[in-house]
Amino acid sequence: MSQNVGDTSKLDKILAEQREYIAKREGGYREKSLKMYPWICGRCTREFTRANLRELTVHHRDHDHDNNPPDGSNWELLCVYCHDNEHSKFEDFVRYGGGGEKRREAATHNPFAGLKEAFEKKS
Ligand SMILES: [Zn+2]
Ligand SMILES: [Zn+2]
Repeated sequence: MSQNVGDTSKLDKILAEQREYIAKREGGYREKSLKMYPWICGRCTREFTRANLRELTVHHRDHDHDNNPPDGSNWELLCVYCHDNEHSKFEDFVRYGGGGEKRREAATHNPFAGLKEAFEKKS
């Protein structure tokens, strides 16, 4: 794109809007879930106060950050360590035959596309 090369304010505006959108989306469910649930990690039961609340994070039970039902059923408050743990467990699950994002990606990729042909030629 070579048009409007000098027009950086437009880009700045877009970036600012995007940041605001992300902050709103994140802030929205984080705030709600912190009002809804006690400030305790759902795994290690560590308790949190305003001083260390930054370390308490909102986990999405189905790992879909866009799934935010108003009753909070998809949220779980976890400390950063347990949250990390939860996600590596999920990645193992995906890798060893679960479902989710990664499998969908692989399907569009189709690394075996040429393999079937190769087999058919041989037999
Ligand atoms: Zn924890
Ligand atoms: Zn999570």
